[in-house]
Amino acid sequence: MPLTPEHAAARKHGIGGSDLASILHEYIADAGDTVYGCPRALFYDKTGVTPDYEFEISGAIMRGHILEPIIADIYSEETGRSVRRLQHKVSKSRPWEMVSIDRQIIGDKELGVGILECKCAGREVWYQIVKNGLPVRFVIQVQWGMHVLGEQYEWGDDAVLWPDGWQYRFHRVERDQQLINMMAKLVADFWKRVQNNDVPPRLKWSDTRCKNCLWRSSCQGKELMKAADIDEETFGDAYIDDALGGVVALRMEMKGIIDEATINKTEAEDELKDAMTAAKSDIVIAGGHKVTWYQQDDGEIIDGKRLKKEEPETFKKFSKVKKGSRPMNFKPI
Ligand code: SF4
Repeated sequence: MPLTPEHAAARKHGIGGSDLASILHEYIADAGDTVYGCPRALFYDKTGVTPDYEFEISGAIMRGHILEPIIADIYSEETGRSVRRLQHKVSKSRPWEMVSIDRQIIGDKELGVGILECKCAGREVWYQIVKNGLPVRFVIQVQWGMHVLGEQYEWGDDAVLWPDGWQYRFHRVERDQQLINMMAKLVADFWKRVQNNDVPPRLKWSDTRCKNCLWRSSCQGKELMKAADIDEETFGDAYIDDALGGVVALRMEMKGIIDEATINKTEAEDELKDAMTAAKSDIVIAGGHKVTWYQQDDGEIIDGKRLKKEEPETFKKFSKVKKGSRPMNFKPI
């Protein structure tokens, strides 16, 4: 959620749950999760280095903020557990450790007090969660909450809403002391760097995280700018038309939907093939359909390459012009 000025100022004095992805970026990458954060950018933020570009609150951030109470209500209704807001907390023994959880879960006599994080997912993240469970970057946030709030917190739930499809689910996160110890150590090491003004190394300039980084000019200098700028040498006759941005975004979204659907279709067909192989049958009746999977007879095709080489005259006689295609390609810049 967008920060109040007080909250934003407090965040400068320590590390909160949303900062962890930057500090644990290598751990997150090793786990196969998408990496967003950069320790150097976090260092700039914590030490008050003025960004080169202004931070803009995106539509996705606003949507998450507006839907957070709704997600908390859905969770509460579905589980019968009560939730309430909790103030920003700072660890007494390690004052650089802080946390602002979305909600505290109360009233569960068996499980005791818990943590609720409310997430608003886009289509891609939603399908990843459905398929593979919670991303590591979500899990570490809940673990951090348990760590800072104290040992009485042994569990948390991540409630996730996919607004476009209006689908909802929640995932349990159990306290993992080993992970917490590792996180606490990395956070303490990072905080020492902040206090000693010891800037973390920069990422390679071509790293996608640098493309939209608020400090990219100061941090990477000319090399990055050269790579990130739209220059004539690289783009030749291209014209720039910001008005088409929405159309390109829509096309990319549709491509994502088709890719996802193709994967799901292939997986469903593979499952059917496995079942039919196991049943030793080419036909199955299921889901209101007759599904057939027959082996086709072998066919014959002309080996064009060989014909062209060994019988060029015949090849020429039976060839006709095929009009060249004009594919549209999309390359991220
Ligand atoms: S430009 Fe890249 S390396 Fe530098 S702070 Fe930003 S993300 Fe990190």
